[in-house]
Amino acid sequence: MKLKSPMAIWKYLPGTNCGECGEKTCLAFAALLKERSRDLAACKPLFADAQYAEKARQLADLLAPEIRAVTIGTGSKAVQIGGEDVLHRHELTFFNRTALAFDVWDTLDEAALRERVRLIADWRKFYVGDFLMVDAIAIRAVSGEAQTFATCVKRVAEETDLPLMLCSLDPVVLEAGLELVADRAPVLYAATQANWQAVLSLAKRYNVPVTVFSPDLDELASLAATFASAGLKDLVLDPGMFPTGDGLAASVANFVRIRRAGIEDGNDDVAYPLLAVPMTAWLISEHDDALAASYWEAMLATIGIIKYADIMILHSIEPHSLIPVRTLAANIYTDPRRPVSVEPGLRPIGAPTPDSPLFITTNFALTYYTVESDLSSNKIDAFLMVADTDGIGVEASVAGGQLTAEKIQETLELSEAESKVTHRTLVIPGLAARLSGETEDLTGWRVLVGPRDSGRIPGWMEEHWPPESSLT
Ligand code: SF4
Repeated sequence: MKLKSPMAIWKYLPGTNCGECGEKTCLAFAALLKERSRDLAACKPLFADAQYAEKARQLADLLAPEIRAVTIGTGSKAVQIGGEDVLHRHELTFFNRTALAFDVWDTLDEAALRERVRLIADWRKFYVGDFLMVDAIAIRAVSGEAQTFATCVKRVAEETDLPLMLCSLDPVVLEAGLELVADRAPVLYAATQANWQAVLSLAKRYNVPVTVFSPDLDELASLAATFASAGLKDLVLDPGMFPTGDGLAASVANFVRIRRAGIEDGNDDVAYPLLAVPMTAWLISEHDDALAASYWEAMLATIGIIKYADIMILHSIEPHSLIPVRTLAANIYTDPRRPVSVEPGLRPIGAPTPDSPLFITTNFALTYYTVESDLSSNKIDAFLMVADTDGIGVEASVAGGQLTAEKIQETLELSEAESKVTHRTLVIPGLAARLSGETEDLTGWRVLVGPRDSGRIPGWMEEHWPPESSLT
């Protein structure tokens, strides 16, 4: 974003404070535009009134992210990459998580190909209230034959609606696959110094994004500028990822240099999403065992996630490689301005009755899902009451005053817990033990102090539930 303050944005808005956007003033709306939490289109007068037309056009341009956002694929599975404005997450936030594309290749026999596509497309892991999944499939033309590649692309497209990358340096081979799936907006990989004219022509004809590859940064910038001047701006840049030694050090430095040039220096020639290929780990000759190669690939992928790769091509779908890589991507791309939280309220776990225990926890998502999982996986029928602690965990919210006896009382009332259980006994986390006396005094409920770690709830239940007596 070229404008650096709400005031600079405000100068382009109508300044009438009409409130149509839902904000009281144009300046308040400008502040939200600066944070990228509102869309410029919400200022309807700016677009409806001809007197603002030029300002509207200029402002849309000036608000665009420093790194161009590129969409790969179509429909609900489409993935947006790039679109970033900062080098460091704490300066604002990152907006589009590193997309993970896993490879298949056209020399696989049909059964093995379809099986691998299903494994990739169906992979998911529950994590902090959501499913981690993979984002795309990279189809590699290992055969070098157009017809073989086309057959492979067709089979992959039949198996999945994930976004596709078509990978070949031969434009004839690329087109054989592309003409079958052009309506799915695949990204082409890759245009190089040797083939760029033919790939540019393909990308324009089919209107699809394209990756430009060169480890020579001047050459990379020059190729990207050539594509842009030809009207093709949906570009992805691959500066190469060499897997070891000086080559690896140079690769990391190149990623940083390009992203810095795009964001800090305003160099539009390289202000595009970056692609990394950690699967180069499989090229290392001493990695002749798959475990070592997948380990090294995961290591390269962590560098890519941390150092600005917007999309990566990977090979290892084994859990020991995929889970840490995907989890890291999820964590690096959370918004530091907003704690990851869940809705407060009362949740039945299993099939609770009025005699079931009533637990309370905070609405920090990681805490909630850990407690919920510890209860449900141990088949404990219970009520789990979630207090609104601004998304902060138990220990910190007790220390910071977000979880207090008053908050517990308020949560009991809002949850209508009295109508759910007959025993009037509340189990608070061990980490909130110091609130027990005050909570009993304030609420009239009996308070039991549970374990500090919810994983110990089953053992705690054996000793403490049902309670011997209650206050009512
Ligand atoms: S709709 Fe536009 S003109 Fe009206 S208050 Fe919002 S920003 Fe200002």
